[in-house]
Amino acid sequence: MLVMNDIKKVFRTDLVETHALRDFNLQVDEGDFVAVTGPSGSGKTTFLNIAGLLETFEGGQYLLDGQDVSQLNDKARSQLRNEKIGFIFQSFNLIPDLDLFDNVDVPLRYRGFNAAERKRRIESALEMVGLANRMKHLPAQLSGGQQQRVAIARALAGEPRFLLADEPTGNLDTKMAHSVMELLKEINQAGTTIVMVTHDPSLARDAKRNIYVRDGKVSELHSVGQELPDAANA
Ligand code: ATP
Repeated sequence: MLVMNDIKKVFRTDLVETHALRDFNLQVDEGDFVAVTGPSGSGKTTFLNIAGLLETFEGGQYLLDGQDVSQLNDKARSQLRNEKIGFIFQSFNLIPDLDLFDNVDVPLRYRGFNAAERKRRIESALEMVGLANRMKHLPAQLSGGQQQRVAIARALAGEPRFLLADEPTGNLDTKMAHSVMELLKEINQAGTTIVMVTHDPSLARDAKRNIYVRDGKVSELHSVGQELPDAANA
């Protein structure tokens, strides 16, 4: 479970202070699939980066599976992130001259798993995303949607409890975007909790729960089926 209570985040430069999150409150339970929408600059990515332990925060409390994140040193934070969190982004960030198997292998090598364990995880993750028969292909030999599936496999190979996705379909056409969304729903049904930032209300509606972020706060909570505010006019 992920619990944020009154989280505050300020970005400071010489000239300006930006209050990216102001008293941000959210609870995400085991098995949930939460879509996060809201206007540009409202704090969605900042929230996701804090949730994924990529970013620190100034005030409030963040409990990840009961652990108070602000009490952890850098080493413990990165260990907790490796154990619990998978990340996918709008850009797929694949290494162009490594085949799919080796791309998925990169974070597993970093974490020090032995060869047999890495092979098991890679094959199972590529199977889950429907690319088990393409292991020796290079990223350039795949469509954009397939490349995002490889990035999803790379995240899944870490066997995370939480998959955090920042605009995962932002570079894809509508058909591919919906196919990646279907895959995320399958992954969620298989037990992984998902939090996804998206600008696309038609994808958000397919999640189990929607939250709307405005001015660094969760301004409204929607259950599936309710109309979302139009982010462009918000
Ligand atoms: P978008 O939908 O455009 O991606 P967002 O809702 O994800 O936007 P954030 O990227 O979280 O918004 O940004 C929230 C606010 O914090 C914005 O005003 C942004 O300019 C500011 N901000 C984000 N990252 C930094 C940074 N590293 N340094 C300074 N300001 C930042």
